Amino acid sequence: MSSKDWIEKDYYAALGVEKSASSDEIKKSYRKLARESHPDHNPGDPKAEERFKAVSEAYAVLGDEKKRREYDEMRSLFGSGAFRRNARGAGQPGGMPFDVSDLFGGGAAGGEARFGGGGLGDLFSSIFTGGGAGGAARPRGPARGRDVETEVALDFPDAVRGVTLPLTLRAPGVCDTCHGNGAKPGTQPVACPVCHGAGVTTRNQGSFSFSEPCRNCQGVGTVVEEKCPECQGTGGVTKTRTLNVRFPAGVADGQRIRLAGRGEPGERGGPAGDLFVHVKVRPDELFGRTGDDLTLTVPITFAEAVLGTDLRVPTLDGTVTLRVPPGTPSGRVLRARGKGVVRKDGRAGDLLVTLDVVVPATLSDEARAALETFAEQTPPAAREHLDARVRRFS
Ligand SMILES: [Zn+2]
Ligand SMILES: [Zn+2]
Repeated sequence: MSSKDWIEKDYYAALGVEKSASSDEIKKSYRKLARESHPDHNPGDPKAEERFKAVSEAYAVLGDEKKRREYDEMRSLFGSGAFRRNARGAGQPGGMPFDVSDLFGGGAAGGEARFGGGGLGDLFSSIFTGGGAGGAARPRGPARGRDVETEVALDFPDAVRGVTLPLTLRAPGVCDTCHGNGAKPGTQPVACPVCHGAGVTTRNQGSFSFSEPCRNCQGVGTVVEEKCPECQGTGGVTKTRTLNVRFPAGVADGQRIRLAGRGEPGERGGPAGDLFVHVKVRPDELFGRTGDDLTLTVPITFAEAVLGTDLRVPTLDGTVTLRVPPGTPSGRVLRARGKGVVRKDGRAGDLLVTLDVVVPATLSDEARAALETFAEQTPPAAREHLDARVRRFS
């Protein structure tokens, strides 16, 4: 079977399944079609024989997870399908040339493959060589490393002032002891004795036969006789690395920081992927934030609002004294300039202080007497504009 066959032939159509079909769906469809078109059931029918051959050929590829991925990859890079996907994905952020879920048939297989050798990660790196700008398929160069995503929770003051934090990342990597082949140092993987290296076995059932991935070697074609002690023969290990990441002053909750080239290293000298850090900011017990402004609510008494006062309020780094002028209404916002987020270029937001006039729930006798005197001396609140409407309903 040549690469040309792979590019030209639509094996999904041959098996009558969607590109996103699960391996079970593929197997089921293959069995049905193989049964229907089997030469034994259609003696002397050359068309049925053709169909049977096409179905078998398709299943030999799609029935093998590894070959299916290679087939999908090749078709997406060179096949007619690529043009459609490129057109659709051209405007997507990050320059991905196409919808990944399309290629891998939904999330079910994808999540697992991320951590398997030869899975999604490898495929990613071989397809997305350098970000895929322009949408044209590139030949395989040194593979770009995988992008890595992680999440960090910052304390409120750190997010306002900016902070550098060590970030520990755990990611799958190739075992250094066996260089990924899973064999104990000094030994080599050997051809699988069951499939003789083909990765596929043929099983006879009744009058026809199935091709299926070799169960002994999971379709790889080789087996490890003495396992690498480091990775237990899987070829992969979880690697830990620590990066110091600078979060700029004013970084906001929900923001995503991109660190170019700090993702997974590329294969064989290829460019590294990017690291994306999703920022969560823990709420502060006192301060809130709107853009570069900090917000704070300060309770004041009715007397302070009426007579005016000087208020000493906290900022993130100290205190500031604000003048409350006589006759200040509840809800008035005072502004302490430059006490918000200070950006790198020196520009700063403000601290916005909202005054909240507190109504006492209980009063001492003296206070009550004073308030009653006050009430007698005060004109009623201006409610004339409501009176007409009230009268209409009385
Ligand atoms: Zn095998
Ligand atoms: Zn190993």
